[in-house]
Amino acid sequence: MERSERVSGAVVGSAVGDALGAPFEFGLPGVFAGRFPDGVGEMCGGGGWDPGEATDDTQMAVLVGESLLECGGLELPDIFRRFRRWAASEPKDIGLQTEDVLTSGEAWDLAAALHFQVNGRAAGNGSLMRATTSAVHFARAGREATMDAARRIAALTHGDRAAWEGTAVFHELVRHALDGGDPLAALPGALAAVHPDHRERWAAVLDPGWHPDLATEFNGAVWPCLGSAVWALRSTAGFEAALGAAIDLGGDTDTVAAVTGGLAGAVYGIGAVPARWTAPLHVPLPGSGGRVLDAPGLVALAHRLDGMHSYS
Ligand SMILES: [Mg+2]
Repeated sequence: MERSERVSGAVVGSAVGDALGAPFEFGLPGVFAGRFPDGVGEMCGGGGWDPGEATDDTQMAVLVGESLLECGGLELPDIFRRFRRWAASEPKDIGLQTEDVLTSGEAWDLAAALHFQVNGRAAGNGSLMRATTSAVHFARAGREATMDAARRIAALTHGDRAAWEGTAVFHELVRHALDGGDPLAALPGALAAVHPDHRERWAAVLDPGWHPDLATEFNGAVWPCLGSAVWALRSTAGFEAALGAAIDLGGDTDTVAAVTGGLAGAVYGIGAVPARWTAPLHVPLPGSGGRVLDAPGLVALAHRLDGMHSYS
């Protein structure tokens, strides 16, 4: 398989997972399989979402990707500015913590840290959910660089280092998959690069013996979210099955499926993402003059994000 198929598979796969899972958010386990007993899941819409409509997860991922391209690299104040403009444009959904940070009026390099100081809790999955575009962009730069970039982008909205480390692990797994490797085989190396204060907790949820039933938090938290995505990848044998398993966990289904779709798309490639899911896929971009990206637009974005490093 060509690298370009994995690159577009990751970005489109994450968006597809987001849109597929959105109607089931806060639902019960098994609700996806219950809705589609023949095993052929559809973009059904519901809960305020149109069929194929991507949520904040993908919207923010696109903002990150477009900033990386238009700035020619990582410009954290620019990403924060784009986030703020988006948050001020009444997106249909926005994470509580992300909203607090982006509407606080504090500077880009202080807002998340101040929020964490005051609230003491900032380990939501909101930085992990939007990481596929940056994971693609920094993959060619190697493990250290891609994990570092993940941490810095995560820190724009999440003051808790646990969220940075989880996002960094995701970047590293995507890097490995885009190179044609098995991301599950990359887990020990990724964990070795996690900050020592956070390694044990991450090792627990990424262990082959871990199951989402063992989660000690709701899967809106960063640990069970990535743990569940890795579990969904490990316990299935194809793109569609991985997303179905992720959504059937219930809870924060759009985000768990977005993270799963990013990993599974990088592993199985764009060819494994069914046309019945990509055809209705669309990503509204509040604050961007009414622009809406479709699947071909996401593919183009993914290829540009991958290509920027190929000549440097
Ligand atoms: Mg969402």
